[in-house]
Amino acid sequence: MIVADKIFFQLILFLIVFLSLLFSTATPVYGQSSLYDPSNPNILTLDSTNFTTTIESQSNAFVVQFYKHWCPYCKRFAPAWRHLAEDIKAWKSVVKLAVINCADEENVATCRSAAIPFVPTIHFYPSYWNFSSGLLPIVVKKGTVDALRNNLTTLIAATSPKDPDLTLIEPLEHRISLTNESLGKKVFLIGEKNESKVGSEVILDLYNFKDQLTIRRANWQSPWLDQFELNETQLPILVTIPKRGFVPIAVQYNQSKNTRRAINDVILRSIQVTINASSSDFTTQASNNVRSGNFSYVNNNQLYIDDLYKCLQQILTNEILIYDTYSLEKINSLRNFTRTIERYFPFANSSERIFFAQLSTLLESHETALLTNVSAGVPVNDLVKQIDDLQNDYTLPKPDEWITCRGSSPIYRGYTCSLWLLWHTLTVIEHTTVSGPSTDHQVVFTMRQFITDFFSCEECRAHFINETANISNEINQSDHFSSIVWLWSIHNSVNRRIAGDPTEDPYFPKVQFPEPSRCMKCYHHGKFNENQVAKFLINRYKPSSWVQYQNPNS
Ligand SMILES: Cc1cc2nc3c(=O)[nH]c(=O)nc-3n(C[C@H](O)[C@H](O)[C@H](O)COP(=O)(O)OP(=O)(O)OC[C@H]3O[C@@H](n4cnc5c(N)ncnc54)[C@H](O)[C@@H]3O)c2cc1C
Repeated sequence: MIVADKIFFQLILFLIVFLSLLFSTATPVYGQSSLYDPSNPNILTLDSTNFTTTIESQSNAFVVQFYKHWCPYCKRFAPAWRHLAEDIKAWKSVVKLAVINCADEENVATCRSAAIPFVPTIHFYPSYWNFSSGLLPIVVKKGTVDALRNNLTTLIAATSPKDPDLTLIEPLEHRISLTNESLGKKVFLIGEKNESKVGSEVILDLYNFKDQLTIRRANWQSPWLDQFELNETQLPILVTIPKRGFVPIAVQYNQSKNTRRAINDVILRSIQVTINASSSDFTTQASNNVRSGNFSYVNNNQLYIDDLYKCLQQILTNEILIYDTYSLEKINSLRNFTRTIERYFPFANSSERIFFAQLSTLLESHETALLTNVSAGVPVNDLVKQIDDLQNDYTLPKPDEWITCRGSSPIYRGYTCSLWLLWHTLTVIEHTTVSGPSTDHQVVFTMRQFITDFFSCEECRAHFINETANISNEINQSDHFSSIVWLWSIHNSVNRRIAGDPTEDPYFPKVQFPEPSRCMKCYHHGKFNENQVAKFLINRYKPSSWVQYQNPNS
């Protein structure tokens, strides 16, 4: 009896674990660096090897989302993109959805030649696209799934030849010609206002049945529909044109359902096709951030310098290489950045510092040439070559993995975490390095310029520019702690804004930093004591706080 109880208990336990795994609602993860499942038949994953050949000269259009897997707004947008792909999967012979991860080093040049400094960005490439035509793809505004589908419908109508025909049927077009064209097919008209998208969406939804169906849009006030004496509340109206008689007959559809789906159902039933509602309905990719599985992370209090080096690698091989040509302003921004790194980065050895000193000197010579009009702009390939050459002479560490900034899954934390840590550290080292009664607080101004020019998460960047617009008034030149406290406060306001967001790692909830458990002294009557906070930050981000990670398995 006791044995039977035990077996029963184990069975229940197994079922609980199995079911909780089965229905886990955590955000989906696809390998190290992808927000999209490469095996999803509705979203093509492109890369530098197939980008051009896939899109060029195709009879269908392409709509491509350029993203970076670490970018919070790309993560937030991913469920809408997946939903859209599911929603318009029947449109594939007219338009295909694709993605390319611009954070992948291999794809940097492809994204740059598509003129993508910031992500997420969506481009629409009309059918029979030719990359050497000199034409530019159309930038699609981001929005909800409905807004995206609406935009796509408009773009297809504007750029496609008449197949599928999304135009309104001419009032004078003779009924006989319509019925003749449609011999052996069922003919439907969707009566609606000119600006309505329902008719076009139904035509696109059912395009795969074009051998059996002719579906056209008609203006609701056109002579085609006179007999119905319509008013606007009855729109859209679905009518069928029988083979003989040519007199349109109204077709009822389920008004309580989504209009587009309801019209689809009725038309499909007329040709004896039934669709599985569940397969075309979107099931939300829930992203309730729950802790799932076992995540073991290294000591969260310890700072590992590996992450600062990985951050520099990301910047040098990807983030700064987003433009084709660099203007004087961009070169100046870059040179301020490299000089700041040279001065204040807690390098482990001096040759790494020389790398940045040399790079700064090269950038200065570009600046001189630009100032004297010897050069109109610095081509990116010159920069890439100079950085590569320097890397050969002064090797910088290239860590494989995030340590301090490791998330509980590859889609969390990483680059943005390391970028904050980098700038906090630079403000602290500037403070301790520059002696005298006041510092010039250059680091935070350099940071603002760098984020403006080279932080490719478009909306993070826009928020940051906005939130720091008053920097000149906020930095108190005579206060030694000013930039350390300023950056801490800006970071905390970002933490406050995005706390509880789907991009938040459940193991690293956004809190006002430092929490009392880290620094009791930083609080006074429940409020921050900024003097104590500054001291805490100086201690936390000082050079000796940064250690190299020793992998216990190697
Ligand atoms: C300039 C910038 C702007 C951003 N804007 C946005 C945005 O608009 N929307 C968005 O969704 N994401 C934005 N991000 C990303 C976001 O801030 C986080 O980096 C991301 O969510 C990963 O969070 P995390 O848990 O790794 O902690 P992070 O916030 O990245 O912090 C990294 C580490 O810094 C320490 N820390 C935390 N707060 C402070 C503080 N106040 N002072 C000092 N140290 C601190 C902690 O040890 C923490 O683990 C931005 C990132 C940067 C660098």
